Amino acid sequence: MKICVTGGAGYIGSHVCKALAEAGHEVVVYDNLSTGHRSFVRWGPFRHGDIRDTARFRACLREFKPDGIIHFAASAYVGESVVDPGKYFSNNVGGTLSILEAMRDEGCPAIVVSGTCAVYGEPKEVPIAESCPPNPINPYGASKLFMERMLADFATAHDVRWMSLRYFNAAGSSPRGEIGELHEPETHLIPRVMFAALGSIDAIDIFGTDYPTPDGTCIRDYIHVDDLARAHIRALEHLVDGGESMALNLGTERGASVREIIRGVEKISGRQVPARAMERRAGDPAVLVADAAKAREVLGWKAERNLETMLEDAWNFLTARKDA
Ligand code: UDP
Repeated sequence: MKICVTGGAGYIGSHVCKALAEAGHEVVVYDNLSTGHRSFVRWGPFRHGDIRDTARFRACLREFKPDGIIHFAASAYVGESVVDPGKYFSNNVGGTLSILEAMRDEGCPAIVVSGTCAVYGEPKEVPIAESCPPNPINPYGASKLFMERMLADFATAHDVRWMSLRYFNAAGSSPRGEIGELHEPETHLIPRVMFAALGSIDAIDIFGTDYPTPDGTCIRDYIHVDDLARAHIRALEHLVDGGESMALNLGTERGASVREIIRGVEKISGRQVPARAMERRAGDPAVLVADAAKAREVLGWKAERNLETMLEDAWNFLTARKDA
């Protein structure tokens, strides 16, 4: 297949490009480099542009005539979305609308987008299946849910098939350490615990120690980025083969608490991680764990890498950069 990857210079997008190229597909990356890294674009040509620039994006589709789009270009910080909702509705909703209009006009038939478990908000039941009614509690989750709504409406009106992959917590990196999680600022738990182990921050702040969980800290379903990458390829194959459009959860179906992550990092790094208990972070549900049965059934996919592998790969990426 020939695939256009928006946001292909970012963390998950670059891993998907690598997996696509390794599976023999052709890739073109379209990215505005607002948060992505030019050095992560290694598996095909690069077109610099914003997805909201519909004319530019159309020109990219006209030039490459892709069989489908995998769409990552989006803003993805819950906290930022609360203080700057306009950015989230502009990038995530406006940007996706621009892509859909370009697809409609250029006749591109299929799109896989990065969805999120944030569409569920505070879940009534865990593990969370797709049958759980969406109820986002922040603008980030709302913008991603609205994206799905636009996809469904375009699919009804035009010849476009879609899949939204609702990830739980992406983690880890390519095993050879050439690409990985590199956000600026970095707010995510696993890299920050590693920064604390390496001494580049004083300590990891544990956001809440009084949750109704066995050790009092939040539980999340961390999933290896290469497992996510495989799922995207399967999803696009499914659509290109004429499969049905839908939203699917992607997770390992196993939860790990903040304290378990800290212990895991201590084990693989052989270092102590200084930690301090802090107040809860606004908008964090106690437990988010996926029920990924539908992805197994529809895509024949399941997560293969465990938490230890995720932590080892993330550690190798960060320490390779630190030594570089
Ligand atoms: N977390 C924490 N300290 C940090 C960053 C995150 O205790 O410095 C917690 C956070 O409250 C959540 C979990 O770690 O329960 C995962 O947060 P992260 O920001 O990595 O991902 P999110 O779930 O927000 O997508």
